[in-house]
Amino acid sequence: MKDLKSLLNTIDVSAEWVGLREVKETKTYRSIRDLNPQSNTSVDTHGIMVEVLHNGQFGYAATNNMTSFGVNKAAKSAFENAKIASHNSLFKFNPDVRPKAVGNYKSKFLKDASSLSAGEINQILIKANQFLKSSDKVISASSMAMIVETEFNYVCTNGSDANQQFLILITDQAVNVKDNDVIQRRSMGRMGHQMGLEALNEDIVMGNCEKILTEALELVKADECPNEKMDVIIAPSQMVLQIHESIGHPLEIDRILGDERNYAGWSFVRLDDFGKLKYGSEIMNVTFDPTISNEMASYMFDDGGMKAEKKYLIKEGKLICGLGGMESQARSGIPAVANFRSSSWNRAPIDRMANLNLEPGESTFKDMVSSVERGIYVETNKSWSIDDYRNKFQFGMEYGRLIEDGKLTKVVKNPNYRGVTTPFWNSLKMVGNESTFEVFGTPNCGKGEPNQVIRVGHATPACLFSNIEVFGGA
Ligand SMILES: [Zn+2]
Repeated sequence: MKDLKSLLNTIDVSAEWVGLREVKETKTYRSIRDLNPQSNTSVDTHGIMVEVLHNGQFGYAATNNMTSFGVNKAAKSAFENAKIASHNSLFKFNPDVRPKAVGNYKSKFLKDASSLSAGEINQILIKANQFLKSSDKVISASSMAMIVETEFNYVCTNGSDANQQFLILITDQAVNVKDNDVIQRRSMGRMGHQMGLEALNEDIVMGNCEKILTEALELVKADECPNEKMDVIIAPSQMVLQIHESIGHPLEIDRILGDERNYAGWSFVRLDDFGKLKYGSEIMNVTFDPTISNEMASYMFDDGGMKAEKKYLIKEGKLICGLGGMESQARSGIPAVANFRSSSWNRAPIDRMANLNLEPGESTFKDMVSSVERGIYVETNKSWSIDDYRNKFQFGMEYGRLIEDGKLTKVVKNPNYRGVTTPFWNSLKMVGNESTFEVFGTPNCGKGEPNQVIRVGHATPACLFSNIEVFGGA
């Protein structure tokens, strides 16, 4: 990494505040499909974003020329951008929206990114693939691992000096099975965590393969999911997307303010809903929580320098806080959370999800199942659709099992459910306890123009929703 403090000292622009954010990332992707290597790539990116505040307006310019000359050229360009844009500012900011950030963060892990060679990783993936291909009903099997090492350095004229280092592992196993005309897919849902290569352990990987192959072979023989209103128990592997799409995106303050209306969409939530809207039932508690060590978006500071702390967004069903950083707080009057994030050195930070979690409740999985007379249990997202306001949605899952008279019974294929965001969350009847709580993370949340793909975490228990519209495949 560069000596950012020295580079900052050479910058000669008459801005009220200047910040440098250096990002270095190495992404290694290894995948095997049907016993053939599909990808063995390693991609590096490294550069510096220069940010300035002038006349109440932020200006940005990024460079991969990390010499004093390159950074100064970017600083002048950022200053010019701020100067020109300040004539048309939507809002005049002051330096308070860039608090002083001093500290270090490092992902917790046991085995670092170089602890397994390319050959060793490929061997584990091939062995997984061989197992997944062990039935003649399998038409395609894939096994992948992505290892991401990212380092952020941040210094500013307000004395900020922060370093954050992340190690992320994203893995998946997937299988497609065909029996007569029926094709079914089962996967682990391509999820990631802050962790080391200790999770690329052969026993863990093979255990996952066994589960998905067994279930895929059950699914091709299974009846179609029925069409009826019934109770639904949603496993964490689908809750993740339910939280992401119907809580995360609609609570992004920049969306509520209209910034993303042209591209990622708007929100059904209005600014005056905060403190009032009954988003869900009284057992619904949603937090912005950057403190869970293995969750993908745990960190110490966001990219505006705000210290990341756990905060309730929805408490006992009531909406109390949104997903907006300090710039959005200044514009909207809604309290900030440290979610002002950029995807890399060449993007300006915007309001993003980070770790957005549903807090565990009191019910065991058994309590939930035994309380259901007629319903369905579903796992792992397969398809999704939600409108621009993040209001009406439908989700399809890979795996379903009926619940009859308090017991899990037969497996059904193509389970789907649909709903409308606040009535759906108000039908939340039981929330699983710690024993059902799982940490997941998706590597590809997209937003912003130019586009930014960012990693977010969601941790959640299994949940029971009552009287939901459930339907099978078309
Ligand atoms: Zn998203």
